[in-house]
Amino acid sequence: MKKEQLVDQLLTYFCQEAEQSFSLFISQNYREKRKLLRGIVNIRPPYPLDENILKLEDELLQLELKEKKITVIDEIPCIEDQFHVLSVWRGDITTLQVDAIVNAGNTSLLGCFIPNHSCIDNAIHTYAGIRLRLSCNEMMNGKEEKVGQAKITGAYNLPSQYVIHTVGPMIGGHVTKEDKDKLRSCYYSCLELAQKKQIRTIAFPSISTGVFHFPKALAAEIAVATVCEFLKDNPGTLDRVIFDVFTEEDQEIYERIFRNKKINL
Ligand code: ADP
Repeated sequence: MKKEQLVDQLLTYFCQEAEQSFSLFISQNYREKRKLLRGIVNIRPPYPLDENILKLEDELLQLELKEKKITVIDEIPCIEDQFHVLSVWRGDITTLQVDAIVNAGNTSLLGCFIPNHSCIDNAIHTYAGIRLRLSCNEMMNGKEEKVGQAKITGAYNLPSQYVIHTVGPMIGGHVTKEDKDKLRSCYYSCLELAQKKQIRTIAFPSISTGVFHFPKALAAEIAVATVCEFLKDNPGTLDRVIFDVFTEEDQEIYERIFRNKKINL
């Protein structure tokens, strides 16, 4: 089936499921329809869903994936540091093909419910597909995830194999020692889980530095220090750890950190 037909069928299904309330917003334009579908999927609670509908969504997401530039590990150079496994890479984490990507989620661990929001949680759940929210819901069973811990699921329609979900600290005023410890714990917990699952390649976003307002430079210092600490404690367990920087500002911050360590990028 073509993308246009898949979007139409999915919209028809979800409009019926929601008793038509969305049908008022359906335009004739494909991009608008696709955006509406994304928004509907974002706000949809993790109710069970007919396998045929899930397969339609898989088909759509796989067609979209084929149109994207997927980056594989061999295309990303390593930093000339003591470990030879670190990389800084700028781009959308949902287009990376590694063993595991890390999601900066919220305590429900069910993904972002704000329609078409620009956070990483929304991107990961959107492109993995509804199966990810259903799987997270089953895993969480109504419980909340503690800040600084990590859990793992499949990645469904993403090019990676797994998603490791963690919840970073949310900064209201100034950064406390507890906030720093919690951020450190996010990175360390993800790496421990990766090790347990025999994951060899992992990509981290800059956890907590978006909607959660952790100062970017301090967060990057903690991220690099924690990953290095883990690699020292557990030599040989990982082939690659990527710091996915996404914004130009983050890229400059990470490059500065490695330059100050006298390490060539
Ligand atoms: P948090 O709630 O932990 O602050 P955000 O999603 O708001 O999470 O931001 C975390 C980091 O993820 C930010 O540095 C943001 O620029 C980055 N980010 C957002 N979308 C993506 C993406 N698609 N791929 C990689 N990083 C992303």
